[in-house]
Amino acid sequence: MKKGYLILIVTVFIPLLLSQCVTGNQAAEEGILLDKYRKIVLAGETETIHASVQSNRPLLWYSSDESYVTVTQEGEITGVSSGNAVITAKTVDGAYKTYCYVTVLTEIPKNVILCIGDGMGFEQVKAAGIFENGTEGSLSFESFEYQNDMTTFSASSAITDSAASATAMATGHKVNNGVLSIEIPGDGSELETLVEFLSQRGKRSGLVTTTHITNATPAAFGSHEQSRTYYEAIALDYVGSSKPNVLFGGGGFGITTEMTNSAGYHTVTDKADFLATDPTGSIYYSAQFGTENMPYMYDYTPGTYPYPELSEMTEKALAILDQDPDGFFLLVEGGRIDHACHDNNIEYAIYETIEFEDAVDRVLEWMEGRSDTVLIITADHETGGLSVTSNNGQGEFPTVTWSTGYHTGVEVPVYLSGSDENIVFGDFDNTHIYYAISDLYE
Ligand SMILES: [Zn+2]
Repeated sequence: MKKGYLILIVTVFIPLLLSQCVTGNQAAEEGILLDKYRKIVLAGETETIHASVQSNRPLLWYSSDESYVTVTQEGEITGVSSGNAVITAKTVDGAYKTYCYVTVLTEIPKNVILCIGDGMGFEQVKAAGIFENGTEGSLSFESFEYQNDMTTFSASSAITDSAASATAMATGHKVNNGVLSIEIPGDGSELETLVEFLSQRGKRSGLVTTTHITNATPAAFGSHEQSRTYYEAIALDYVGSSKPNVLFGGGGFGITTEMTNSAGYHTVTDKADFLATDPTGSIYYSAQFGTENMPYMYDYTPGTYPYPELSEMTEKALAILDQDPDGFFLLVEGGRIDHACHDNNIEYAIYETIEFEDAVDRVLEWMEGRSDTVLIITADHETGGLSVTSNNGQGEFPTVTWSTGYHTGVEVPVYLSGSDENIVFGDFDNTHIYYAISDLYE
């Protein structure tokens, strides 16, 4: 694809049931409005359909035969114009699904950064904004132009765990709770992850988290295991197979400094060595802080622990990965929002969410002046059934209620920024994170 063009990448997932409704000339006469509530209906593997779309930008449609079609603009109504185009859409994996999304980009981004707040639902975001700034909607990423809500159910349950949800985002496939990027249910084969997919396209990758580095969310991006508890196998997958260039987080739980050193990783275990690390000195970097999850930010007064904060790990990862002229994929996880919410501890949850925002802010500072990077902020699921009932002002913890000590199935937020513009239409599911990214490079 050519840089500099407005490119509309369209992926359409189709229900077979309604396949007769919108095809060929019938669609040309009726038109299809791609909006938040309309699902596209398509009959076969590929199909040409006629569609109208709302956008505040002139559009070029990307079709599967690599041709571009200029869209006729038809005037502007309060900053929104409509265009008509012939598009070729395709099903993914030959499977018929009911969702569609549309992304408008000014160029194919070089870098993709995915930030996941584990357990960070809408109410966790709201509570953190109230505490930090006195008003809801005030975290930095809440001002992103494009936002959506996202479903998170797994193959085995309406309520996902981190392994299944991270697998959905890393591979585009729903698996059973507890499974890491293996086709279960299914034939048990390994599902290609974004780390592997982008590595084949010359991009470096990094996994950064505040949990131990072999925990479920990073593990779904860097390993293939039947159970999230196979920690040593996950670590061996990292250093022997997927080889992310950056592995930063808590140590232990299967990973050792001997293991990463012998695999060619520049390995550090304390903050001073970490901050002094030369980002150009190696291709592979491992930081293993302690032998469990990293400390909660609420307990993290200066000098308490010889470990960096998530924001510092994020900044270092960017400096390292940016050495690759072909770009990179970086996963940043605020991993302990979830743990605080399992304990129904709003103070800890808010501190963890604000540290997650700080990490995002480091990314935004790094992105300033760049147009080659897409940034996606989301969550794997909500934890605790949190509900904010009273704003007690800036610097005061809000009054809240909790409905559970486990995860819930409510939709979670997704925020998009970068490479000028991204638009997400339609019902959005966690599997679409994979397609939104992988489609950029196909
Ligand atoms: Zn959890």
